[in-house]
Amino acid sequence: MPKSTTACPAKTCAKPDAPQEAIASGLLASAGVNAAWTAQARRCTQCGCVYSVEDEALTVRGYYNNPIFPEGWRPIYV
Ligand SMILES: [Zn+2]
Repeated sequence: MPKSTTACPAKTCAKPDAPQEAIASGLLASAGVNAAWTAQARRCTQCGCVYSVEDEALTVRGYYNNPIFPEGWRPIYV
């Protein structure tokens, strides 16, 4: 598989090659996130980074249960 879809895109991730998992759009919706990108969202099991996958492009959207901020969804604005 191409590296772009298997590695965490967060610049601060301690282990970018940690397993990346799909995160359900329903879970994000329950956290108040209803954007279209949630249908293609993935999450890094290491740092909690949530990002969208569109074609080859990974866009960091925020963090869900980050080890430092474990209280759920934290959007980031870039
Ligand atoms: Zn990560």
